[in-house]
Amino acid sequence: MLLDDEIAALSLQLMEIELDESESKGKYAAGNPPDTKIASDNFQSEILGHLDFLKDLKMAHSIACAVNVDAHAIAQLTEPEKRARYDREYASRLQEGYPNEPYTTSSSYNDSDSFQDLVDEGNTINLDVEDALDTEPSNAYADQQAKVLGEFSQMHECDVCYEIYRAPFTILLPCADRYCIGCLKRLFLDATADESLFPARCCRQPIPLHYIQRQCSSDELESIQNAEIEFSTSDRTYCSNNDCARFIKPMDITGSQANCPYCFTETCTACKAGFHEDTDCPADPALQATLTVANEQGWQRCYSCRTMVELDHGCNHMTCKCGAEFCYICGANWKTCPCDQWNEERLVVRAEEVVNRAALRPLPEMELNRRVEEMADALRQNHNCTHRGWLPRVEGGNGQAFRCEMCARQHWRFILRCPQCHVQICADCRRNRLR
Ligand SMILES: [Zn+2]
Ligand SMILES: [Zn+2]
Ligand SMILES: [Zn+2]
Ligand SMILES: [Zn+2]
Ligand SMILES: [Zn+2]
Ligand SMILES: [Zn+2]
Ligand SMILES: [Zn+2]
Ligand SMILES: [Zn+2]
Repeated sequence: MLLDDEIAALSLQLMEIELDESESKGKYAAGNPPDTKIASDNFQSEILGHLDFLKDLKMAHSIACAVNVDAHAIAQLTEPEKRARYDREYASRLQEGYPNEPYTTSSSYNDSDSFQDLVDEGNTINLDVEDALDTEPSNAYADQQAKVLGEFSQMHECDVCYEIYRAPFTILLPCADRYCIGCLKRLFLDATADESLFPARCCRQPIPLHYIQRQCSSDELESIQNAEIEFSTSDRTYCSNNDCARFIKPMDITGSQANCPYCFTETCTACKAGFHEDTDCPADPALQATLTVANEQGWQRCYSCRTMVELDHGCNHMTCKCGAEFCYICGANWKTCPCDQWNEERLVVRAEEVVNRAALRPLPEMELNRRVEEMADALRQNHNCTHRGWLPRVEGGNGQAFRCEMCARQHWRFILRCPQCHVQICADCRRNRLR
């Protein structure tokens, strides 16, 4: 019999007993019920008990179905156990004398077969309803059911939007940050349009797509895949039709001719303008002129993806959105050229900026100069800072917004400040933009 049918049948039986009872009310003295009344009371409580059991079973069954649909959510429930197990195994491997094997923080204990592990470990919550109906629920089964129900009803805060969600609607990442489905999906989709977020990552670790894949439509998955191709292409060509301007995949390029599959415009891959014969490509002179102007304004071209990057802070070290690091002066891969690693003049300007930002009121000149000198020294020491370690919060509150020096957005609540190099960045950039 199907669960629902049995529940319906029992409920009906219960109603009949209750009806019977109300009809026989007052036909016997209180405290002295006839045997039939006692029997029917026993029967009633038996039915009630069984009905509760069936309802629990139904609930557990629908959870089991939900889990099969989203195996990932349940896999995460065991994350801490897996982590602990992995740590133990790693420690014992170390004792056995494999000290050089790298300690993994993400992939090896947390791969996509984790649901299978869960099943193998006997934690299966796939219920065989027919079997369960034939036999009394075993303790192990009841415990398991209670455990699953408990875990699924646990509430968690999303570390990004601070909203509270039930466990299955949150995703615990290998870095131990917990995202709600909405926030994680937004990160992946934002990363398709903003290379500084690509590949989607948290705490400097790329987030495997399978964490969100099930929640994405086929269009969304396609744009994630397209972004991957675009951002891994060096010297990209975009459609020269300004109304289109889509990225043209390498497979749509023949020689120096890029063919847009959307609007059929042809683009020259050398000068990025409309396609023309090789002989009259204005690429080199025009490009050189643009580069000279750009350079004067503090821009340099990324050697890897060829986009222009603006120089900021005092250092000659530039980091492109694509992750490439290069020298501001000559454009070479960072630390491969003999150029100075910072420019004294710009470094002092930056030191002044940092000192003034921290000062509560305008400083007397002597004090200002002393602090700027000190700060310039600190910046020289830390010009290669990658902002690792703890970034203390600077709380807002006096009606002044903080500007994130990475994404340029205004923040009112707080900003994070690197104690080494004094760069100030927002919490989102710390989580998702630092490499
Ligand atoms: Zn969220
Ligand atoms: Zn994280
Ligand atoms: Zn086009
Ligand atoms: Zn050209
Ligand atoms: Zn680049
Ligand atoms: Zn250089
Ligand atoms: Zn730093
Ligand atoms: Zn930011």
